[in-house]
Amino acid sequence: MNRAATAQFASSQPATRTKIPCRPILPPPRPDMFEPVSCYLCGGTDTVPLVTAEDDLTGKPGRFTFVTCRRCGLAYQSPRLKLEHIGAYYDEEYIAHRRKTNWGWLTPLYRRAMDKLDRAKIATVGENIALEPETKVLDVGCGAGSFLAKLRSTYGAAVTGVDFKDLSGSPWLEGVEFRCGLFYEQAFGDRRFDLITMWHFLEHDYDPPRSLQFARDLLAPEGRLVIEVPRLDCLTWRLYRERWPGLQAPQHTVLLSRASLLDMLAQAGLEVIDHRPYGAFPPYFYLFAGAAFKLLKGKGLNLDRAILPYFLGQILLSPFLLFERRLNLAMQTVVCRPSPSGARGGDDA
Ligand SMILES: [Zn+2]
Repeated sequence: MNRAATAQFASSQPATRTKIPCRPILPPPRPDMFEPVSCYLCGGTDTVPLVTAEDDLTGKPGRFTFVTCRRCGLAYQSPRLKLEHIGAYYDEEYIAHRRKTNWGWLTPLYRRAMDKLDRAKIATVGENIALEPETKVLDVGCGAGSFLAKLRSTYGAAVTGVDFKDLSGSPWLEGVEFRCGLFYEQAFGDRRFDLITMWHFLEHDYDPPRSLQFARDLLAPEGRLVIEVPRLDCLTWRLYRERWPGLQAPQHTVLLSRASLLDMLAQAGLEVIDHRPYGAFPPYFYLFAGAAFKLLKGKGLNLDRAILPYFLGQILLSPFLLFERRLNLAMQTVVCRPSPSGARGGDDA
């Protein structure tokens, strides 16, 4: 996944200086492309408006509404685009699906950032499970597959990836069993996994409780499920509100606070072993992108122009970022296992 970004600064740049890739023109979504959503957690329909967002990342037209459930407090997008229309928003501009690897003289920095992200993910899972050639790993929402490629090349683990977009041409997915489609529609038969990972998958899902239950049933008895999602009750949300990068409209269907994530896991029959107020994903990206989104006001971020200011800003903020794990800036990670009873569990994080 690419973690670089900045302001487009279109007005301050000479038009001929940087070649900008053409973006496909997408018309604004029509009202009939949306559907109302009942609360994913409690099924309720009594909500209060939370925030209206734009597609700040790519600048596609449209306004998208998030609400809060009055009964259980879950925040989610409603109405949301029907499933058949959301694919258009996961195009080549979509950050996790970009396969670009050449960033000119910044390529080594970019590669180091990518590698650091995968190493951080592996460190997290390595603290919770032995990574060996027999280890069966399933990455849900695997994107271009660099995490799985690293697990396979370093530990020889048997790796499977699922993504709803066909990314089988990605070089990282060579040697990976790749499945294209909705996670909970995959047929795995009797297969069980020692480790299932969801790195920024759940907040995109059209039925998160169903995916969690499906994952629980696919876990080996001592298996672990590791989930990383943006955390709604965090500092960058309070800073940026309608321009918070964690909204990522229209792709993000749910906005999970710590409490609503733990509620959802318990409801799915998963027992929480560990909850952390940070993730592998660099929270600096949210600090940077939120500031850029405030400036751009929905015009979209040009990653080619963003990458240099991104890295410069990171150097400037490095003293502050030393404490990122204590500051609850943007992310949360949870490690869980199947509840012994298989039924509703407790909050022990
Ligand atoms: Zn609810």
